[in-house]
Amino acid sequence: MSPELFDTHAHLHFPDFQEDFDAMMGRAREAGVRRMVTIGTDVETSQAALAIAERDPDVWATVGLHPHDAGAGDAALFDELARLARSPRVVALGEMGLDFFRNLSPRPVQETAFRRQLALARELGKPVVLHCRDAHAETLAILAEERVSEVGGIMHCFSGDVEVARRCLDLGLVISIAGPVTYPNARALPAVVRFVPADRLVVETDCPFLPPQPFRGKRNEPAHVTITAARVAELRGERLEDLAPRLTDNALRVFGLGGA
Ligand SMILES: [Zn+2]
Ligand SMILES: [Zn+2]
Repeated sequence: MSPELFDTHAHLHFPDFQEDFDAMMGRAREAGVRRMVTIGTDVETSQAALAIAERDPDVWATVGLHPHDAGAGDAALFDELARLARSPRVVALGEMGLDFFRNLSPRPVQETAFRRQLALARELGKPVVLHCRDAHAETLAILAEERVSEVGGIMHCFSGDVEVARRCLDLGLVISIAGPVTYPNARALPAVVRFVPADRLVVETDCPFLPPQPFRGKRNEPAHVTITAARVAELRGERLEDLAPRLTDNALRVFGLGGA
């Protein structure tokens, strides 16, 4: 039997899964991926994420505004996010952060949306899901200023080096490893995976994006988190059966799902 895993970052509500949603969820469960968090990126996808979480007791939602969409962040949008975020099925705010790789929204606009969501997370006492691409110094500075340690959270699809990981850990964050750890050019990720303590590590698919190596070029889905978790265990020199329950415990803890 495959060990149970928790996909901490999926976009199950994206149109990519509309056609075969039930079959995709069936494959996830077959693979041992029992619990998932589906991640909002704007108002529409946050509403859709919450709708799935209200239907399925093993799926929870986040609501947030992705840095790509930060330009849409007016007062009405933040009011609606705040309203959605109060649902008990919403376990975190985000994804939020800075993306200076694609720069789809101007940087000051990204920063404002990021700070507003961190303030909302503090107000509601919920953790955050962080997106950071080519903006580690700026992201870490804002996280410290906005006292992220008061709520905790996950640095999703971690793409930094050991030094960035150390600073995330110092801020009280958990590191999430996605499909790129399986790529031949995984850069600093193998060293990061060995460095992070076993009680501060989780795994994710970020599906439909970033499929692990054997599925590159195809749509990613939650069942494939098993490949990423197996690679993480291999890099750490641990058995997946031993590591998997710890990864799941970490996910339950960071999302405040103690009794789930
Ligand atoms: Zn992201
Ligand atoms: Zn994502």
